[in-house]
Amino acid sequence: MSLEKERVCDNVIYDVVVVGGGVAGTSAAYRLNQVLSKKGSGDIKVLLVEAKDRLGGRTLTEKVNVEGGQELFDLGGQWIGRTQHHIIWLMKELGLEYYEQYAAGSKFLRLSDGKIRKFSSSLKVSFVGLLDLGSVITKMNRMSKKVPHDDPCACKQAEEWDSMTVDTFLKKNMWTKDARELIDIIISTTSGVTPKELSLLSLLHGASGAGGFEEMMESTKEGAQGFRIKGGAQQISELAAERIGSENVWLGEPVKLIDQSNDEFVTVVTESGKEVKTKYVIMSAPINCVENIVFKPSLPMDYHFLAQRMPVGHNLKFIVTYKKAFWREAGLSGEIISFGGAPVIDGCDTGPIQVVLDAVTDNGTPALVGFFANSRQWRKIELSVRRREVVKQLVEYLGPEGGDIIDYVDKDWAEEPYNGGCPGNFMTTGAITLFFKSLQKTFDRVHWAGTETATLWSGYISGAVQTGLRAADEILNRMDPSLTQDGLLKSLDNESSGD
Ligand SMILES: Cc1cc2nc3c(=O)[nH]c(=O)nc-3n(C[C@H](O)[C@H](O)[C@H](O)COP(=O)(O)OP(=O)(O)OC[C@H]3O[C@@H](n4cnc5c(N)ncnc54)[C@H](O)[C@@H]3O)c2cc1C
Repeated sequence: MSLEKERVCDNVIYDVVVVGGGVAGTSAAYRLNQVLSKKGSGDIKVLLVEAKDRLGGRTLTEKVNVEGGQELFDLGGQWIGRTQHHIIWLMKELGLEYYEQYAAGSKFLRLSDGKIRKFSSSLKVSFVGLLDLGSVITKMNRMSKKVPHDDPCACKQAEEWDSMTVDTFLKKNMWTKDARELIDIIISTTSGVTPKELSLLSLLHGASGAGGFEEMMESTKEGAQGFRIKGGAQQISELAAERIGSENVWLGEPVKLIDQSNDEFVTVVTESGKEVKTKYVIMSAPINCVENIVFKPSLPMDYHFLAQRMPVGHNLKFIVTYKKAFWREAGLSGEIISFGGAPVIDGCDTGPIQVVLDAVTDNGTPALVGFFANSRQWRKIELSVRRREVVKQLVEYLGPEGGDIIDYVDKDWAEEPYNGGCPGNFMTTGAITLFFKSLQKTFDRVHWAGTETATLWSGYISGAVQTGLRAADEILNRMDPSLTQDGLLKSLDNESSGD
């Protein structure tokens, strides 16, 4: 899609400038455009300003070599789940389709004893390990139900749980090594950090907004990894932005200043010196990126305090393509769950593979997708070595055919500019109870979006859509409360939260 930059006349005052062209920003622009054009307010002007030369943010769909050519694969966010009604709604609007994640067949598990265990239905850990795992998940599910997704500070135990890391809690509540290792793998894959970095309350809050831990973990159609988007997830932002017209989208224009000192309009200035006036701003850049933007007057200090407590997580994601999906033919789902295996090179405490899933596309192109164990260490290792070691481990699990690859591609999200980490920013202890309210609190004419500000499926694509709709509705309400009478956001929130 070609989106041209246009010069803006000095005398034009936009109604809304949306900063950030990821899923949240483009959802906001889509909603504003949809409501205002339906109401015949065609002269209302919305401008989307994105720092990078592409839309999509943390969704990124790229071509990878496959037999006979190339095929699109997601190197960023890719899965959606059946209870993620915000993204499902948007995809319907945009005419995007999804298909089920393949999960049939046996899977592999490897914990720190190094043994590769094949299992089908029930996880192959010791009987006590299974009990341990079941009991801690039940306990955390019960606790998460006490954390209101829209106001985690209202939970009676908020102080206690926010002053504790997930690691501290697990040490107190688990007694088997294998179950504990399994939980660690799941947490570091889904949040990009180790349990010792993460506030317990923030994990429970995430689960509360997702409907429970099973929903977050599962790669069956019941869970967050249940479905994939035909043609890739980056299309969400590209198609949503298309609706507002290419003349209203600026690419390659990092915003550097937001000046609200004039009562009549807000001035938004980009690094190249382009300047635009607007009545309102939706800021959808991740919180660590907002910290690089100058605000006049300054942002409230609590926002900075919060940003300091929301660092970015890290994951290295890889795609491997093959001539045929030989694992399916062998009755395997392609799924591997591992602590990484024994160290294989200096500088990395474990081998490379943490999680692998089937990534065969809807047109049948064979591939696997995976995430690195100890990704912060493995990112320092040369690409050719990463590739060699991943493929070696695939052979260990899947047999010699695992080595017969067509292509290997991986993506280190720490190197991505204007990025909210992988999969996003996480909360350290104290962040919620001390500063959570600053995350969404309107700052004069600046409204906040971005998946980290979501109350449902925060950190996920669907959460990003929720925040885009919310920020758009906040502004529509300020313009004219009748504009949001369709109750769209409320009904999607109710469906997603099961209320
Ligand atoms: C590897 C990986 C795997 C993931 N897997 C999944 C998954 O399977 N399912 C799922 O639901 N979620 C997944 N996620 C998370 C999901 O991708 C994100 O939650 C979602 O895309 C975030 O959207 P966003 O719009 O809130 O933020 P972003 O996508 O980060 O968008 C923010 C935008 O703001 C722009 N920006 C920043 N600073 C400025 C500035 N100064 N001026 C202008 N623009 C600026 C950025 O360039 C970016 O385009 C994954 C993420 C990663 C990285």
